[in-house]
Amino acid sequence: MAKSPEEEHPQKAFGWAARDSHGILSPFQFSRRENGDEDVTIKILYCGVCHSDLHCCKNEWGFTRYPVVPGHEMVGIVTKTGKKVTKFKEGNNVGVGVIVGSCKKCETCQQDLENYCPQCIFTYNDSYHDGTKTYGGYSNIVVVDQRYVLRFPDNLPLDSGAPLLCAGITVYSPMKYYGMTEPGKHLGVAGLGGLGHVAVKFGKAFGLKVTVISSSPGKQAEAIDRLGADAFLLSSDPAQIKAALGTMDFIIDTVSAVHPLDPLIALLKLNGKLITVGLPNKPLQITIFPLVLGRKLVGGSDIGGMKETQEMLDFCAKHNITSDIELIRMEEINTAFERLAKSDVRFLAILTLTKLAYLQKTLGWVAIDPTEGFISLPLNQSNFIIQWPYDVPQDQRYKFVDGIHKLRVYSSDKPHTPTSQTRPRTEIRIHGYDYSSGVWQFEGYGYVPRGTSGVCIMQVFGASPSHATTLMLRVYNDSLTYYQSPVLDPNIYNRWFRLNVVHDVEGSTVKVYIDGALLYEAPGRGGTSHYFKCGVYAQNDDSYLMESHWKGIKVFKKCD
Ligand SMILES: [Zn+2]
Ligand SMILES: [Zn+2]
Repeated sequence: MAKSPEEEHPQKAFGWAARDSHGILSPFQFSRRENGDEDVTIKILYCGVCHSDLHCCKNEWGFTRYPVVPGHEMVGIVTKTGKKVTKFKEGNNVGVGVIVGSCKKCETCQQDLENYCPQCIFTYNDSYHDGTKTYGGYSNIVVVDQRYVLRFPDNLPLDSGAPLLCAGITVYSPMKYYGMTEPGKHLGVAGLGGLGHVAVKFGKAFGLKVTVISSSPGKQAEAIDRLGADAFLLSSDPAQIKAALGTMDFIIDTVSAVHPLDPLIALLKLNGKLITVGLPNKPLQITIFPLVLGRKLVGGSDIGGMKETQEMLDFCAKHNITSDIELIRMEEINTAFERLAKSDVRFLAILTLTKLAYLQKTLGWVAIDPTEGFISLPLNQSNFIIQWPYDVPQDQRYKFVDGIHKLRVYSSDKPHTPTSQTRPRTEIRIHGYDYSSGVWQFEGYGYVPRGTSGVCIMQVFGASPSHATTLMLRVYNDSLTYYQSPVLDPNIYNRWFRLNVVHDVEGSTVKVYIDGALLYEAPGRGGTSHYFKCGVYAQNDDSYLMESHWKGIKVFKKCD
C-alpha cells in the first residue's frame, strides 16, 4: 500500500491543503524528502497567492489530485544544503517559483529553458522524479534541487518580491525575447491585474512609452497615478481606440478571459508584435489580412528558465520593482480565495490578480484530519428534512442553489409547527442516521454573514431530560460559541469554515473542529437518540434576520 503523505518522507512538514473541489484549505500534515546532495531545504517565510492556486484547488482545469498544497511564489531562508550544493549557504534568502525540476539533459534544458522541458516538474500538483507528489509553498518547509532555487537579492523585499517568481517572470521573459526593451518604443499592456501591473513597471524601467489598455474606466487612476503609465486607453471607447490605431510597437496581452484579438492587432504599427501570456480556455479568432499587410506577429510565452528568472530578480532589485501586495495571515486564506474569485466577476477582463501574499504562521501547531478512521455514509437530498416557519412557503426561508443550502429566519417568524412552543428556526435535520451508540461525526462547510447573531447554527439533538441537545454551536456578534460560552472562534463572519463535530456516545464526549483544528471538547449530556442539525435557530438576543449557508454536508461513522 502507498504510504500516507505524512510517512512518505523523513522530513516532517505541515501546510494547508484543499481536499476536494470546494477548494477550502485546512491544516495538513505531510512530509518532505531527505535533503539530497544537490538539494537545499528552505524554511518558507512568505508565499504569494496566485490565481492558479485558486483554479487548481477548485479543480477548474480538471487535473487536480487531492490533497493539494498550492503555492508557487515562495520566499524563505536556507536551513540545509547538500554536499554538492555550491550556489547557496545556510541563512541565504532564496525563492522558488513555478517549477522544481526538469530532465537537465534535453535541448531546452541545455539552453536554460527548463520551463519548456517536456519533463518539467511543477511546484505543486505534479509528480517528482521519484514518483511522489509535489506540494507547494503554503507550508513551512520545502526541499528543492539547487538548480531551481533563486538567489533573492538583499535589497528586494521578501514579501512584495515573492509574486515576481510567477507574475514577474511571466511578463519579463517575453519582453526580453520579443525585443520589447528598446527605449522610446511604445508598449501597450492589455489588462491591469497581477501580470499587467508588473508589465507596466518593467516597461517604464526599460524606458518605454507605456499605455494601459483596459475595459474598466476605474483602472485609469491606478495605471497613471500609481504605476506611472504614460497613457490609458479605454477599450470600450471607439473614439479613443480610433485615435490609437497603428501607434504601438508591441502589446503584451495579460487577459485570460475570452476576448477579441483583432482590435489589439489594429493598434500595432508595421512590424508590431502582440504577445499573449493570459490563458483563455477557448480558441480566439484572428483575421489574417491585417497580419499579412502589416507584417505583424502574434506570439506567446510561458514563465521563464531559471537563469532568466534570476536575471529578472536582479533587475527588479536594481530598479526597485516589486509587486503590489496585501499581507494576510494563513488562517485568512479561505477568505482571500473568495475575494480573488469575486474579482473575476467585477473585472471580467483580468483573471490574474497577484495582490495577496500571506505570512506563514511561524508557531507550530498540531492538526489532524478528524475524519481519519471514519467511513462516510451515503447522503442525498432526501436525507435533508427542512424545518421552517409553518405559515410561509418553504422557498422564502430555504433555498438549495449550486450545491449550497441557504437558510434564513426572522426573529418575528412563527415556529416550525403550529403547536410548537419553540423559537423560530429554519434548519436541516439529517434524516436516516439517528443513532443511540457508537462514534458519529458531522462535517460541513458553513458560512455566516455579518449581522447574524443570537442563533444556533449547528446542533447535536438528543440528551437526558432537562436538556434537549448534546451540543449547540451558536453565533453571537462574529463569535462562534459553545452554547452561550465559551467562545470557540472569535471571527466567524463572512468566511467559509470547515466544521467537524465528533460525538462519542459511550465515551460521553463531543469534539468541535474548525478548519481541522480541535477547538473544544465537551462532556456528553446523555440521551438515547441523537441526530445532527444545521441552519438557523433563534436564541436569546437574536438579530432580526439570521442566516447561514452550508455545503459539503457529510455524516461519518467510526469504523469498528
Ligand atoms: Zn502563479
Ligand atoms: Zn529537459
